Amino acid sequence: MILLTPGPTAVPETVRAAMSTETIHHRTKEFEAIFASTREMLKKLFGMPEALMLVSSGSGTMEAAVLNLTHKKALTINGGKFGERFGKIAKAFNVDYKEIVVEWGESVSVDAVVNEIKNDSSIDAIFIQISESSTGVRHPVEAVAAEVKKINPAVMIVADGITAVGVEPIDVTNIDCLITGSQKALMLPPGLAMMGLSDAAVAKIEAKPAGFYFNLATELKNQRKNTTAWTAATTLTIGLNKVLADLFEQGLENKFREIEKIAKATRAALDAIGLKQYPKNPALSMSTYELDGANALRKLLQNEFKVNIAGGQDHLNDKIFRINHMGYVEVYHAAWAVEAIEIAMEKLNIRKFDASASRAFARSFYLEG
Ligand SMILES: *Cc1c(COP(=O)(O)O)cnc(C)c1O
Repeated sequence: MILLTPGPTAVPETVRAAMSTETIHHRTKEFEAIFASTREMLKKLFGMPEALMLVSSGSGTMEAAVLNLTHKKALTINGGKFGERFGKIAKAFNVDYKEIVVEWGESVSVDAVVNEIKNDSSIDAIFIQISESSTGVRHPVEAVAAEVKKINPAVMIVADGITAVGVEPIDVTNIDCLITGSQKALMLPPGLAMMGLSDAAVAKIEAKPAGFYFNLATELKNQRKNTTAWTAATTLTIGLNKVLADLFEQGLENKFREIEKIAKATRAALDAIGLKQYPKNPALSMSTYELDGANALRKLLQNEFKVNIAGGQDHLNDKIFRINHMGYVEVYHAAWAVEAIEIAMEKLNIRKFDASASRAFARSFYLEG
């Protein structure tokens, strides 16, 4: 089966092999050395002075950020399932918050955020997705961060980059906390999450330690010594070390370029068979297209073509499908996915097959680049 869902994503064989060694204890010099080198590569990946690894899925790290970086009031941007989650976390912990609701499929406007910051000086942290995975939208995080910092540099900008870090360049000049997880662009199994931190974020965390399992002040103290407060995810850390070493050997720019080419070719193919892209400002991480009855197409793709793509959530269930471009995707996986979609569409009596998808994919990927 070709796994082309926007998380979990496929794990390369070299990475699976790296994780197949004997389990080692986490309180050993051997593991500390692996942890140290992974930590340094993570800082480089984020482009930030500090990095933490947490044993959780991405949502745990979102929770840690809300708890440790909001002292007064949070501002959350809800334009989909993941933006909504920041608000749900704040609510669950009685953290005061205000939510900007954005219509699904749209990006937040910089002005809307600026207005909230100007009108409410108690807001001391903003939580926003770079790529909102439920809609495939790219939010203008860098622009939001720059404008907010002009008004009040003390406001923490927390960017959920789970489907953006390792996908495209992110300008972290004004970002204080950049979150990612193992099972998307970092092409690992689920279970490890990471965050990059600015010096200001570190100072704020240390000024008022919060939480227990996700107490980031405790983690900072430990991880600076290349150990962890609780048992480390040893095997996933070894996998992450391999992923990052390979990424830097390939060159991040080259990886970004490869993802961009696959995304472009996929979109050219789906456009060529008359499908409509759902988000107005699409993120590079995935292609999100409208299709009434998308679930029947997905089922056929799985059963007859060995391609697994994602559908939509909530009111978008059965209305959209999403194809992943993050992490480990071979060009022939992506090319087969769009061809299979075109064949499946004929089988479902949606559109006659004429090989337009394959032609557009090949032209875009190989002839136009
Ligand atoms: C996947 C994802 C998360 C984290 O979800 P988990 O299931 O907890 O790993 C958070 N934000 C975005 C944008 C995501 O795509």
